[in-house]
Amino acid sequence: MRIALIAHDKKKKDIIEFALKYHDFLKQHTLYATGTTGRMIEEQTGLNIHRFKSGPLGGDQEIGAKVAKEEIDMVIFFRDPLTAQPHEPDISALLRLCDVYEIPLATNKNTAALLIIGSCK
Ligand code: PGA
Repeated sequence: MRIALIAHDKKKKDIIEFALKYHDFLKQHTLYATGTTGRMIEEQTGLNIHRFKSGPLGGDQEIGAKVAKEEIDMVIFFRDPLTAQPHEPDISALLRLCDVYEIPLATNKNTAALLIIGSCK
């Protein structure tokens, strides 16, 4: 599968812990991420990740474009629901495209865990 990983700043620690926990699963798949999320996961886990621009600089839109081209199979996006984001329109657009193309989308770690468990044969 082609999996996109994104985390807002206050959720970066969580996504790194998540990537370490599910390392054996994630390493079997093609991984994409927004810039800072991808760099931090790579540094902390050794996973190989294709990195787009940082989210506020267009990274969410780049991932959205891949969703629209049906080149992403799952999006794991640890959103921070308690902090205003300058790129909120980009975030909404990405979430919308996931629904347009019916791409499995997890916006918190428990849903992400269920998606991963559910996709294991
Ligand atoms: P970042 O972007 O991984 O570059 O921090 C995430 C976001 O804020 O959408």
